[in-house]
Amino acid sequence: MKEKGTISIHTENIFPIIKKFLYSDHEIFLRELVSNAVDATQKLKKLASLGEFKDELGDIRIEVKFDKKKKTITVSDRGIGMTAEEVKKYINQIAFSGAAEFVEKFKDKGDAKDIIGKFGLGFYSSFMVADNVEIITRSHTASEGEAAKWTCDGSTEFSIEPTTKKERGTDVILHINKDSEEFLDEWRIKGILEKYCKFLPVEIKFGTKEDSVEDGEDKDGKKKYKTVTSDRIINNPEPLWAKSPNDLNDEDYLKFYKELYPFSEDPLFWIHLNVDYPFNLTGILYFPKVKNDFELQKNKIQLYSRQVFITDEVKDVVPDFLMLLHGVLDSPDIPLNVSRSYLQSDSNVKKISQHITKKVADKLTDMYKKDRKEFEKKWDDINIFVKYGMISDEKFYEKAKDFALLKNVNNEYFTFNEYKEKVKPTQTDKEKQLVYLYSTDPGKQDTYIQMAKDKSYDVLLMDGVLDSHFISNLEQKFEKTQIKRVDSDTVDKLIAKDEKVESVLSKEEEEQVKTIFEKAINNTNMTLAVESMSPNDLPVTVTMSEWMRRMKDMAKTGGGGMPFMGSMPDNYNVSVNANHNVIQKVLKAETEEQKVKLAKQAYDLALLSQNMLTGADLTSFIKRSVELVS
Ligand code: ADP
Repeated sequence: MKEKGTISIHTENIFPIIKKFLYSDHEIFLRELVSNAVDATQKLKKLASLGEFKDELGDIRIEVKFDKKKKTITVSDRGIGMTAEEVKKYINQIAFSGAAEFVEKFKDKGDAKDIIGKFGLGFYSSFMVADNVEIITRSHTASEGEAAKWTCDGSTEFSIEPTTKKERGTDVILHINKDSEEFLDEWRIKGILEKYCKFLPVEIKFGTKEDSVEDGEDKDGKKKYKTVTSDRIINNPEPLWAKSPNDLNDEDYLKFYKELYPFSEDPLFWIHLNVDYPFNLTGILYFPKVKNDFELQKNKIQLYSRQVFITDEVKDVVPDFLMLLHGVLDSPDIPLNVSRSYLQSDSNVKKISQHITKKVADKLTDMYKKDRKEFEKKWDDINIFVKYGMISDEKFYEKAKDFALLKNVNNEYFTFNEYKEKVKPTQTDKEKQLVYLYSTDPGKQDTYIQMAKDKSYDVLLMDGVLDSHFISNLEQKFEKTQIKRVDSDTVDKLIAKDEKVESVLSKEEEEQVKTIFEKAINNTNMTLAVESMSPNDLPVTVTMSEWMRRMKDMAKTGGGGMPFMGSMPDNYNVSVNANHNVIQKVLKAETEEQKVKLAKQAYDLALLSQNMLTGADLTSFIKRSVELVS
């Protein structure tokens, strides 16, 4: 007997609202229907394992089909099915009360598209793409052939009638609406299934595939091939993260990485997460090889809930500094379907994020302790994560400070403690401050590095995108330590010592030198000083103050620094070495013109060594040099 009824809800027609709210994400209807089919299958397996279901399970594959002419998409499962009473209860009442709750709660809110599932709206998402939906279902408890057929056209009216169905389980048939005909396409459906259902725990068949297989030999002994058609299974029902780490080897992990990101270089190492208290979390995080320039990341971490793909926007679940990792996370405890602000304040999400941070720190500590040399080899690839983590997360810093490495321009690696001990004897100044030196570009700063080395100073290599921030961070953390770029001041002033080099110039001569150089330089952005340095140092050095340059660097990479610094003109210090014999030559030159010319030459050389001599200045420098040597 056919029965008709009205779905009881307290608000006006729900479907226009569903359609409106869920508009931007129509494709998820398929995820919801296939997830329901998986649930129904898992429930039956559970009953069978408990001995409550005694028949053969048989083939329990889920199948997705479409018919372009009839304009239908069908999702079929061989799960527990529903009796007519259950359809009325689960589909008409429970789902709708959930739907009503949804409507009540989110009537006035713009972006409620994520609510699906959470409030039992899963099944009803099919009305985003269908005018009419049929459910033909036979319960696992039903006797031969007995089944129920439910139909609804998207109004609040439904009908339910008895029908026959050969096999146990449920067919959900969507009659696709005019606006959604794009979904009646093999590649579109395949794409959606591969995106959301790739690791669902029950096999999902969609269409067929063709493979070429060996078929004996021809008369010349050459191998023959034939094409065979077989079912196309969309998913891998047993993804690696769901297995026990003890049963897996390196190859398994590398193979799975390729399954996730087919065209990527092998990762460096990985962490298998497996927690069940106080929250549930499994997953595998891979450390990729990251180039130094923050390459826009195409391989993202994927977030799953019980093997259903949810999103690859993992912003709040994964700590910022680990966003560049690859892999998968699976947790039923993340409230996946609610808004972002809710996610941020959720305590499970916070705990998960903290847990991941801790696991990563532990893994790195292990690697460092186990094999220091190997760790050093990986450092260039992983330092960006570690530095970012140390800057942004106090707890991570506390753990990382014992394994983080500093690399110098000779490619030697030191822990923080080792480095401190190394430079203490030579690089402590008269105020008992340690002074660390670094270079951001050994090619360009070679002159300065050599001068530092001549004084037995060590120079660190800090050429990464995050290094200017990292240095500021270290300076705050380290006690009594300053960190200066190797060209930020003349070597004598970098590490101020008590011994003073006497100037060979008299006060008057110094004034003279100053006037000559001022004329030669003729640039207000240059601050000039005549200083007594070693005769072996350069006659003229051009430097930018550490503070000024760092502010500019930080303004460039964002965060820290002062935004206006980026647009300020560069300001340099010019030091003229009173004790260099070139200065004697300048003073003794015959004419005023000659003096200025020589001074200009010495100054240009200093600029040249800083890569700052360009354009017309460079041209006239070359001209002048030719004159001077000929
Ligand atoms: P949810 O899956 O979040 O509970 P749905 O609206 O998707 O909400 O489904 C409501 C209920 O209908 C399910 O909880 C389940 O009991 C029943 N159901 C849906 N699809 C199937 C199916 N393919 N087989 C058996 N029962 C189903």
